Amino acid sequence: MKQEFFTLGSFEFPADVQIIKGKLEAEGIQVFLRDENTINSDPLISSAIGGVKLQVYTTDMERAKLIFDEVRNYATDMEGKPIVCPNCKAERSEIYYSRSSVFYKLFPFFEPKKYRCTSCNFITKPES
Ligand SMILES: [Zn+2]
Repeated sequence: MKQEFFTLGSFEFPADVQIIKGKLEAEGIQVFLRDENTINSDPLISSAIGGVKLQVYTTDMERAKLIFDEVRNYATDMEGKPIVCPNCKAERSEIYYSRSSVFYKLFPFFEPKKYRCTSCNFITKPES
């Protein structure tokens, strides 16, 4: 039987992938990573090729999606409340790094924190 793959997501940093991969494998789902070797040998080109793609068999797709949704850390504010998207009111935002300039690539901790809504891709910039 020919197996088809489903791409669960792509990740800029191999460390993020390892967390999700570990969780899926703990649930007995076989995980395949693409492009990881290229990234490890040269991290600067990872965004150019879209990062590491995490794939599962399509037969595991539904289960993998559920686990992925649980594992994914949605961004919260200082009090631990979920960040609410001002555009669609969803409470599922991730921390977003644009890393648009060379400066932020070298010093990512100087970049102001932003959030990206996983429902509508709206970028929120919280007031500080
Ligand atoms: Zn939204």
